[in-house]
Amino acid sequence: MKRFSGIGVSPGVVCGRAVILMQRAQVLRYRILPSRIDHELGRLEQSRQRSRQQLHDIRASVAERRGPDLAAIFDAQLLMLDDPMLVPRAAALVSDTLVNAEWAVQQVFEDVSAVFDEIADPYLRERKGDVADLVGRLKMNLREGVVSPRDLLQQLDEASVLIADDLTPSLAAQVDWTKVRGFATDAGSRTYHTAILARSLEVPAVVGLHVASEEIQPGELVVIDGTNAAVIVDPDEETLDRVIREAHDRRPAAVWTEAARRPARLADGTAIRLDANIEFPEDLAAARYAGAEGVGLYRSEFLLTGGHEIPDEDEQYAIYRQMVEGMAPGLVTIRTFDVDEDQLALRSADPALGGSWIADEERGSRQGRRGLRLALAQPDLFRTQLRALFRASCHGQLRIMFPFVTSVEQIRQARAVVRDVIATLEREGVPVPAVPIGVMIEIPAAAYTADLLAREVDFFTIGTNDLIQYCLAVDRADERVSMLYEPLHPAILRVVLMVRRAAGRQRIPVSLCGEMASDPAILPLLVGLGLTEFSMTPGAIGVATQVLSERRLDDLRALARRVLTLTTVEDIEQELVAGLGRYSVKL
Ligand code: PEP
Ligand code: MG
Repeated sequence: MKRFSGIGVSPGVVCGRAVILMQRAQVLRYRILPSRIDHELGRLEQSRQRSRQQLHDIRASVAERRGPDLAAIFDAQLLMLDDPMLVPRAAALVSDTLVNAEWAVQQVFEDVSAVFDEIADPYLRERKGDVADLVGRLKMNLREGVVSPRDLLQQLDEASVLIADDLTPSLAAQVDWTKVRGFATDAGSRTYHTAILARSLEVPAVVGLHVASEEIQPGELVVIDGTNAAVIVDPDEETLDRVIREAHDRRPAAVWTEAARRPARLADGTAIRLDANIEFPEDLAAARYAGAEGVGLYRSEFLLTGGHEIPDEDEQYAIYRQMVEGMAPGLVTIRTFDVDEDQLALRSADPALGGSWIADEERGSRQGRRGLRLALAQPDLFRTQLRALFRASCHGQLRIMFPFVTSVEQIRQARAVVRDVIATLEREGVPVPAVPIGVMIEIPAAAYTADLLAREVDFFTIGTNDLIQYCLAVDRADERVSMLYEPLHPAILRVVLMVRRAAGRQRIPVSLCGEMASDPAILPLLVGLGLTEFSMTPGAIGVATQVLSERRLDDLRALARRVLTLTTVEDIEQELVAGLGRYSVKL
């Protein structure tokens, strides 16, 4: 038995055979049954034949256009294709270690690369590029007929758990989670987009494991314990018993529904609004079921995932309309695309990976042309989305929200585009009701000028996921600094209070939609700081409703006053434990 500790981002405990995904190398590694060896070897040989044909074709066309010298480069690759070090070694790995062909090719490449790295002659060392090119071709040809890793994952014969170096939300969204019971990744933190998705899919998940994808072997029996932030390989009988017991005891979501379906109220009757954060239109049902009053954040950029074309105006209109009608009479806040230029360019880079628009870039802090900045730089994309949104607004209660805003100027520019879109629609005879326009306050510059921004918009939503990362200078997806990602840092509490006050002075509504809101230990403090509207993952609404129903506003205000005098996170945590006492609900 071997245990890895990470960050538990989605509760629950499951067990299954490991399937390893190397997202960065874009290969899936899984154990094949002995009866599948011939099939895998056949795929490998077919890939070699296709590659050979393609290289001959390329060689001929280069020779014709650029002369024989340049074409000779491809002779080297054709020779390598028949080298015993490459395809035959991969075939041996398939038969001897029962792994899939993609993984065997990748493994051979890594071994060969290591040899090249040791060569002193720079000319020879650079030939590694040719090997990489050829291996890329072999892998591409292995994918022929296989549309995406989702299809690969569907070919698995038994219940599995997915162990990945990294897992983009676009890929996670395509996995069949009835076959794949849970996942664990080397990368990530609680606010990593895939972690957010895991909670909304209610799939147990542990992230931030550093080396799990290298150390766990495909086919090993693995327990993913999201509740206790652990991954256990080759579990003993006692652990397996616990998995079975907990799976059996797991409270069905319905336990919460009676209380949760009623709007949340504090013990003294103060109304607190709880909305849902959703990533896919299909999540609407879960949001309603969980008792959400509305949708406080629809991350519309998830429409851009999945490897298909960007939905056109009519397609977007149909989706937004479905959302407002599905949530009626509740309010739906749709955030315009929060992607950056690189993500947009990447989304079509590899259709076989489902157009993974948040690949390695997700791991950076993403401070480029993102959100509203990108919208203003690519007005066509922005206008199409705005037209679809305004057309859908006739069908229900819609609010439009801009992400990643830093200045009044940006809001004014965006509002000018909005006016123009409305005028055009009206000229076309499309009725456009008044739609509130708001912004996310998720960058310190916006928080510090919240009093100025409040005069330009109809509402604020505080996005603490990004606000924490930028205030504390901690990359939210980098597991090496995840201990420093601290929602209870005094700077964060002060900044939240400052934004709440700025909104209050201007009498505009303000809600908070970061992950912080779904933490039942922190939510009462946020209420004490004066917030009354929150948006969270649907699965968190039931507990939040229960926790709030046990507290009085006066007590929470007093708690917040005490917390604001404290200087360290540890003191604040202690005050929360002492001040809130135990809940009747088991968290
Ligand atoms: C946030 O930044 O807090 C937020 C809710 O948006 P996202 O997590 O999509 O960046
Ligand atoms: Mg954000």
